[in-house]
Amino acid sequence: MTLSKIERKIIEDSIRDIKDFPKPGIVFKDITTLLNDKEAYSVLMNHLYQRYKEYNLDYIAGIDARGFIFGAALAQMLGLGFVPIRKKGKLPYTTISEKYSLEYGVDEIEVHIDAFSKVKNAKVLMIDDLIATGGTANAAATLINQTGAECVEACFIIGLSFLDGIDNLKTKTDVYSLIEVN
Ligand code: AMP
Repeated sequence: MTLSKIERKIIEDSIRDIKDFPKPGIVFKDITTLLNDKEAYSVLMNHLYQRYKEYNLDYIAGIDARGFIFGAALAQMLGLGFVPIRKKGKLPYTTISEKYSLEYGVDEIEVHIDAFSKVKNAKVLMIDDLIATGGTANAAATLINQTGAECVEACFIIGLSFLDGIDNLKTKTDVYSLIEVN
């Protein structure tokens, strides 16, 4: 199930572009204006619920930090558990971690080693607000699969399809981005 034309327009219109943030040349997709718009937020969450209720998922995993907002809300709607995938140093129990490249330097994300252990071969939906180069999402999918769970789909509100992040991630998991920016 994909978005209807009207749903897409409501969501698209609620996302604000901020030029040159956090640095020159970047157009930052600001989703705070989606979250504080009750109609857009509700259209978005209802669409995600309708799409994923048929997937027989076991968990939703959200990526630090905006993925937590959509992921935790969706998990509750679907009656599933939520797992945070966090920037290094934030999770208190034993973790596994994965490094990934940024434009300049590296970053690292981690997940609790037992996060998906209540269900054998758990089916996991990963969610974040946006995929750009795909470095973060690739590392997150690797982590989910390393725990013994399976990342069955990665969902993004926005996909920057002029970069090759989506195509790269498709070698690892199915990818669904609601709004594609060319
Ligand atoms: P990447 O690993 O390059 O796919 O970057 C994805 C992460 O960076 C996501 O968690 C996004 O929230 C954030 N991000 C990257 N580019 C943008 C952008 N143009 N607007 C908003 N967030 C972005």
